[in-house]
Amino acid sequence: LAFALGCATTNTTKTVEVSQQSDTDRRVDSVLNLMTLQEKIGQMNQYNGFWEVTGPAPRGGAAAMKYDQLKKGMVGSMLNVYGTKDVRALQKIAVEETRLGIPVIFGLDVIHGYKTISPIPLAEAASWDMEAIQKSAEIAAAEAAAAGINWTFAPMVDVSRDARWGRVMEGAGEDPYFNSRVAEARVKGFQGNLDEFHLAACVKHFAGYAFAEAGRDYNTVDISDNTLHNIILPPFKAASDAGALTFMNSFNELEGIPATGNAYLQKEILKGDWGFKGFIVTDWGSMGEMITHGYAANLKDAAMKAANAGNDMDMESEGYVKHLEALVKEGKVSEERINDAVRRILRVKFMMGLFDDPYKYCDEQREKTTIGKKEFHDGVLDMAKKSIVLLKNNNNLLPLKKEGQKIAVIGALANDKTSPLGNWRINGDDGTAVSVLEGLQHYKGNTITYAKGADVVVGTTTFGTEVHINTTDKSGFNEAVQAAKAADIVVMVIGEYGLQTGEGRSRSKIDIPGVQEELLKAVFEVNKNVVVVLNNGRPLILNWEAENVPAIVEAWHLGTESGNAIAQVLYGDYNPSGKLPMSFPKAVGQLPIYYNHKNTGRPGNGQPTESVFWSHYGDIDNAPLYPFGYGLSYSSFAYSNLTLSSNSFNKNGQITVSVDVKNTSNRDGKEVVQLYLRDMVGSVTRPVKELKGFELAEIKAGETKTITFTISEKDIAFYTANKIWEAEPGEFDVFVGGSSQTVLESSFTYTN
Ligand code: BGC
Repeated sequence: LAFALGCATTNTTKTVEVSQQSDTDRRVDSVLNLMTLQEKIGQMNQYNGFWEVTGPAPRGGAAAMKYDQLKKGMVGSMLNVYGTKDVRALQKIAVEETRLGIPVIFGLDVIHGYKTISPIPLAEAASWDMEAIQKSAEIAAAEAAAAGINWTFAPMVDVSRDARWGRVMEGAGEDPYFNSRVAEARVKGFQGNLDEFHLAACVKHFAGYAFAEAGRDYNTVDISDNTLHNIILPPFKAASDAGALTFMNSFNELEGIPATGNAYLQKEILKGDWGFKGFIVTDWGSMGEMITHGYAANLKDAAMKAANAGNDMDMESEGYVKHLEALVKEGKVSEERINDAVRRILRVKFMMGLFDDPYKYCDEQREKTTIGKKEFHDGVLDMAKKSIVLLKNNNNLLPLKKEGQKIAVIGALANDKTSPLGNWRINGDDGTAVSVLEGLQHYKGNTITYAKGADVVVGTTTFGTEVHINTTDKSGFNEAVQAAKAADIVVMVIGEYGLQTGEGRSRSKIDIPGVQEELLKAVFEVNKNVVVVLNNGRPLILNWEAENVPAIVEAWHLGTESGNAIAQVLYGDYNPSGKLPMSFPKAVGQLPIYYNHKNTGRPGNGQPTESVFWSHYGDIDNAPLYPFGYGLSYSSFAYSNLTLSSNSFNKNGQITVSVDVKNTSNRDGKEVVQLYLRDMVGSVTRPVKELKGFELAEIKAGETKTITFTISEKDIAFYTANKIWEAEPGEFDVFVGGSSQTVLESSFTYTN
C-alpha cells in the first residue's frame, strides 16, 4: 500500500512512478480512496508528543495510549516533538507500522526562532522592514526545518489594541493594514517554496482573540461585525491570499459561539468567501473548552459542533478520535465533511513533500551543521538592530562617545542573558542571549561598572508554571547609586522579565514592574545623564521617564543577539529607525487605546473644548504618551511638498500622493514615511485615520527624497452597511508624516 501512496519505500521504481503525478488533488484522492473511516478520523487528530518521546520509559498512561494510537494510524499530526532523532523515531512508526504509511506532520510554535532567537514579533514589527521580517521568518524556518519540524504555529496576526493582554508580544500591534503586510512577509518567509528548508505556516488565532475583555487572556470577546470585518479579519485575509497553508482557530467566543465551533468564521468566511484550501486546526484543547464555555454538552457534542462548523484537525482534545466515528454513523456529521477535512490535511502533507520523503526533515547531519549557524546569528542581530525604537534623545545624549567615558550599567535586566529571549523561546536555551552589559563590554574605549540595583521579580521562572511576584528588595540600591555617582553616563536597563508577557501573562498594571522605577529615580538624583534601555514585550507606562530622563531606547525582548544590537545603537554604529506598532498609553485607564479610533458624536473631535460634555477623562487627556508609528533617529527629517496627482479619481482610476522628505542632519538615516487616509462620511462610521501605505526610505545626510504612494479603489474599500467590501464615493483626507500624528494634510474625492 505504501507504494500506491508514493511514500519513500525500498521500491524506488514505484515511488517515482507515483510522485511523477503532478496533480496533487489526484494524489490526495488516490490516498483518500484507500482509507477507512477510522483512518480518516486519525488524520484529523493531533497529539502533543513532548513527553512521549523524551519522557522516562516504560511509558504508561497517556503516553502509552498515544503510542498505541500512532501505530493504528490514528494520529495525523504531533506537536512539540522536535529534534531529528525523536521526529524520525515517530515518523518511522507512522510510515512503517501503520496500514497505509501516511506520514505525520510535525508542528511546533516557532514564533521567533527555533534555537537562534530573533526579536519577539512585536519588536520585529517595529522595524517596519518587511524584507527583514521575511528574512527573520526564513531563518526560523531553516533552523526548525533542520530539526525535524514541518509546520509552525505562526504567524499570529491578531490586531491588538490592549497592552494588558500578554500576547501583544506575538503580533504586529494595533493596525489592520500594517498587520496585513507583516502577515504576508511572515507567511512568505516561513513557507518559501515549501522545500525542506521551510515550514507550513499556521495563521492564528481565527478570530477575535486579542479583543478579550479588559485585556485578560482567554476572557470573553464581544465585538461588532463591523469591527470583525474592518479591523480583525484583514490580516487573516492577507495571510490566506499569501498562500498560508493552515489556520488555527481560537479559544474565544464570537457572537456567543466559540470560534472552534463557529461556522460563520470557518465555513462561511474562510473556506467560503476567501476560498481557503488548507486546513484549520483547533487551538490547544479548544474543542473541549466549548464544554466549559457552555456551548457543548459534552466532548461528543463539541466534536460534532467543531466538525460541522468547518474545523479539520483537533489539537489535544481527543474529541474526533473518540467520537467522530459514532457521529458519522449516527448521521450527525456527514462523511463528505470528513472527506473534505482529510483531503485538506493530505493536500498540505503532499505540498510539504512528506509523501515523497517522510524523512525529508530528518537529516541528522543537516541538523548538526545548521542549528546556530553564524549566518543565523548575523541575521537575528540585523533584525534586532532594526527593531529598536528611539523614544527620546534630548541634547543628543546618544550616541555615546566611544572613548574616555565612565559608564555605569545598572538594572535587573542589564546582565540578564535569558529575559531578552522573551516568551515563546521553546527551544532557545536559557542563558544564551548576549546581555546589554556584554554588548557594551565589546567596546573597549570606556570604563564600565555594573550594579544590578534590584531584581524585577522573585520566584520560579520555569516556562508555563512560573510563579513570580515583583520584588520589593531594595538592598542593592546603594551600590547602584554609588556606581551612578561615579559615572559620566548611566545606562539603565529595566522593564519586564522575559516571561512577564505572552500567553496567560496579562497584567492589570502596565508600569515598569517592581521597584525598578524607584531605583531609576534614586539613580537620577545623583546623575542626570541617564539612558533608559527598556526590555519588554508590551507598551508600558513611561510618564515619569518621558518627562525626566534625557534618553529612552525601546529595545523590547530582542533575542539571542540582544546586547550586541543595543550596544551598536547606543554607540551609533547603527542609526535607529524603528517606529512603534502600538500606542503607548499614559494610563491603564486609557486602554484600549489606538490611533485609528472612531469619532464620537460629541464636539471637539477628541480635542479639548470649553464644555465638559465632550468625550474625555477628567484627570488625563485622551492622547497616548507615544503614538502608533512614532520613533526617532539620530538623523532628523523634514516633510514638505505634499502633492496629489489629481483631486479626484473614480473606480478604474487612481491617484498618486507624493511628498518630499529631507534628511536635515549630517548623518545618513532611514525614515518610515507613512500615509494615512480618512473617509469623511460612510454608510457606517469610519476611523479618524487609517494607515494605507508606508515606505522605509534610506535618505543620506542632507538629501531630499520624493516618496510616492498610489491610491486606488482597493485602498479605500471597506466593509460597508451592505455587508460587503466596497468603495463609497465621497471626500477623503490624506495625511503624511513620520508617525500617526502626521504633519501634512490634503484631500481628494472618489467618484463612482
Ligand atoms: C496557544 C497557541 C499555540 C498552541 C500550541 C495554545 O495555548 O494559544 O497559540 O499554538 O497553544 O502550543
